[in-house]
Amino acid sequence: EARRRELDGHPPDGLGSVVQFAQVEKVLNFCRANSLWPLTFGLSCCAIEMMSAGMARFDLARFGAEVFRPSPRQCDLMIVAGTVNKKMAPVVLTLYEQMAAPRYVIALGNCAIAGGPFAVEENYNVIEGVDRLIPVDVYVPGCPPRPETLFESIFKLQEKIAGTRFPVPMNKMPEGA
Ligand code: SF4
Repeated sequence: EARRRELDGHPPDGLGSVVQFAQVEKVLNFCRANSLWPLTFGLSCCAIEMMSAGMARFDLARFGAEVFRPSPRQCDLMIVAGTVNKKMAPVVLTLYEQMAAPRYVIALGNCAIAGGPFAVEENYNVIEGVDRLIPVDVYVPGCPPRPETLFESIFKLQEKIAGTRFPVPMNKMPEGA
C-alpha cells in the first residue's frame, strides 16, 4: 500500500510531515527575520549610533526591528554597541543566555569586533572581540559605524535567518544615506 501511494506521487510515509515541517520553519523564519526585537543595551559611544538608528531621522521601524526591550526575556537580538570591558563581560554573557531562542548577535563597531583602539598589547581591561564570549552573526566595522551601516547589518541578518534578502526601495532610505 505504501509503495502504491509512493508510485501515485505521494511522498513516502513520514516524509510528508518532514516537508510540512520545513514549510512551517520557512514561515517562522520569515516572521523572525521581519520582527527582530533588539535588547536596549549599549556599552559606549557606538550605542549613540544605535539609538540614532531607532529615532525618527533613520527610523529603524521601517524594517521591522524597532521594538527595543529592556528585558532580555523579550528580545532575540543583541546589538553589542561599544567596548566590552572585562568587568562587563559576565553581564553580556548572562544577558545573552537570558534572551529568547533563537537569538542573534550583531557586533557593532571596531571595539565589539576586536577591541578597537583599546586592542593594545597586554591590555588589562578590554575584551578584544565580543565573539570571545558569545557567537556573533554579523560584524559591522567602523568607529563608530553610521546608522545606515547598522541597517545593512540588519538586512544581512534577515538574509541569514530567512535565506533571502528583502528588497529595500532606495526612496525608503533617509536623505544622505
Ligand atoms: Fe567608541 Fe569607536 Fe569603540 Fe565605537 S568603535 S565604541 S565609536 S571607540
